[in-house]
Amino acid sequence: MPTPQSILKEVFGYDSFRPLQREVIENVLERRDSLAIMPTGGGKSLCYQIPALLQPGLTLVISPLIALMKDQVEQLRAYGVAAVYLNSSLSAEAYAENMEAVRRGEVKLLYLAPESLFTGRILNLLDSLRVDMLTIDEAHCISEWGHDFRPEYRQLVEIRRRYPQAVCLALTATATPRVRQDISRNLGFSHNNEFVASFNRENLYIEVAPKTNPLAQTIRFAERFKDQSGIIYCFSRRQVDELAADLARKGFSVRPYHAGLTDEDRRRNQEAFIRDDVQIIVATIAFGMGINKPNVRFVLHYDLPKSIEGYYQEIGRAGRDGLPAHCLLLYSYGDVAKLKYFIEQKQGDEKRIANQHVDSLVRYAEDEHNCRRKPLLAYFGENYPQAKCQNCDNCTSPPPALENVTIPAQKFLSCVKRTGERFGAGHVTEVLRGSKSEKVLKWEHDKLSTYGIGMELTEKQWMHLGRQLLQMGYLQQDAEFYSLRLTEKALDALRKRAPIFGHLQEPQERPRNEKARKTDLDYNHALFALLRQKRKELADQDNVPPYVIFSDKTLVEMAAYYPQSLASLMSISGVGQVKARQFGDSFVAVVREYCQKKGIAEVAKESPREKSDQNRRYVAVGEAFNAGEAVESLAKRYSVSVATILDNLGRFAAAGNRLQNGKSLQRLSSLSASEQTAALQAFASAGTDYLKPVFEQLGGRVSYDELKILRLLFLTGEEHGTHNQTKP
Ligand code: ADP
Ligand code: ZN
Repeated sequence: MPTPQSILKEVFGYDSFRPLQREVIENVLERRDSLAIMPTGGGKSLCYQIPALLQPGLTLVISPLIALMKDQVEQLRAYGVAAVYLNSSLSAEAYAENMEAVRRGEVKLLYLAPESLFTGRILNLLDSLRVDMLTIDEAHCISEWGHDFRPEYRQLVEIRRRYPQAVCLALTATATPRVRQDISRNLGFSHNNEFVASFNRENLYIEVAPKTNPLAQTIRFAERFKDQSGIIYCFSRRQVDELAADLARKGFSVRPYHAGLTDEDRRRNQEAFIRDDVQIIVATIAFGMGINKPNVRFVLHYDLPKSIEGYYQEIGRAGRDGLPAHCLLLYSYGDVAKLKYFIEQKQGDEKRIANQHVDSLVRYAEDEHNCRRKPLLAYFGENYPQAKCQNCDNCTSPPPALENVTIPAQKFLSCVKRTGERFGAGHVTEVLRGSKSEKVLKWEHDKLSTYGIGMELTEKQWMHLGRQLLQMGYLQQDAEFYSLRLTEKALDALRKRAPIFGHLQEPQERPRNEKARKTDLDYNHALFALLRQKRKELADQDNVPPYVIFSDKTLVEMAAYYPQSLASLMSISGVGQVKARQFGDSFVAVVREYCQKKGIAEVAKESPREKSDQNRRYVAVGEAFNAGEAVESLAKRYSVSVATILDNLGRFAAAGNRLQNGKSLQRLSSLSASEQTAALQAFASAGTDYLKPVFEQLGGRVSYDELKILRLLFLTGEEHGTHNQTKP
């Protein structure tokens, strides 16, 4: 009989589940409505695709992103899964054909936009079928508190009433508690069926660098990613157009993307990016919502994003395939001032909130010491438990030591004062360096005592010092005119001759400590390039994006293990049975030819081991539980639901560990003592592998939620005197 694990391997070609995938799938298969909150790239799709293949009837997938449906359906078909979509982008013939296929019961997954769901012909169609599951993708659209409210989503409740036998799974990458609550309440879910994955994306290298010469920095950065996809985000359309043109002139394969282009141009540029025909997209934040491209290797923020939430969402578009990806933010105080200037035009609450967003981003960007992941995850209410992630700039390369800059700082501050606190850093620098510019002469600033006293530093060094004094709170800057003013702190420092520490050296990108970076699989780059070429060829033949054929991760593994037969190809991640049959020979042929020429032998792939920290969290949870910590306290500590902790304990027991601390479980259960005894007896006779037999034995009187608790209680052996080692 197929199981979630066997489908994962045979159909999708993956060896192990990502965090919480297994839990969500099992919960849904136990026919409980569930809400899964996972970051972009967390693997939400499999959470409904695997149950869809394990249930006899149809799975509906509701999604507002029409552009993504085609992509998802193409990916599923490449895996040999019968999926179709029905939306306005189809021709009348294609639409009718898809309707027919659904009617004949040949389709396992049907993708629909919410607005088409309520049309007479769709409802008619569905009424004639068995609908087993209703999947609501982008479920935050149901909430007015989300960033993308869609009134049609509110009507989904009616569909639930119409097909009450269908289990409902809602998915989103929006983590705020408010939105979460709204989804559960609107859809009538119970809190115990919420699954919140960690928002940490281990494979993203996170870096913030001072923006000194952005074009040169961008070019140097992009050159490191030859032939690999990347997104560059800019603040304005004009900046997008300029930068795209500059990069094109330097020989990069690049296209712009913003709301000022025609729909047709936008579509074409996006398509070219998705199909690996162009390497780089320069975009305003409008880009990324409707794409699913897993092999984006870098995201560069050329300008300051508007909030941490937006920033995290944007960098999240890198590395969905789980391979290393690099996220670089170019930061300058000038950009902050620019953003603040725009915010000044706003009013009331909107202005206050926008300011708060920028301020937290500034704090994040200016922090040179703490691991970047801490503040980012804290923003989403998650505690990052490690001191260092070893995959961000602050963890891998500490900043240069501070120097005593008291004398030049005093000169700069005095000069701000002498020029009347009406000028920006550029003018102050000119005065310090004794410039004879028109502006200096016009204001007679060549007569000041601070005129020409700063020849020892370059213009750039003075500007840099000015920015540091601003950041350290010695200066304030007018949001509109950029003029500088001394603060109380500066007056105090001047009076007391207090020492000031900073950097005189112009800011530089910190040297990257490559050794400290997370190492990934070593692979043969020449072979990888050949495999990519083959992939592109097959993709163009089928008129699909290359990643529909195989992901980069799959090709990387091929270029590391050199599989020379279909059998060994099947051990590569991402190679399921249908893909092996369809594309296997083509790729094995490339590997064989290369290996023959170079005299390379196949490398055996070791059996998969679970490696991610979340995957091992259940051990920490199990141990803390056995040491006496209550389930509720664990849920709080890891910011997950009680149900998730119970699942973790289940896995801990399944891995052969004995559970103790049954008292804590007893407290959780709302059953009377005699009901508990009955349930424990039922487990003793029916075993703990499945809940359904026990549920039936108890006449359906005890809910699955309760049974999960009691199954664990049973496994502690505390309440019935025997220690039981049956797997749950
Ligand atoms: P999300 O919708 O949460 O952004 P997806 O479902 O698109 O994420 O998955 C992101 C990528 O990860 C896809 O390329 C998918 O095939 C891959 N993936 C998902 N689950 C697994 C797994 N268990 N093992 C390996 N790769 C996976
Ligand atoms: Zn770090």
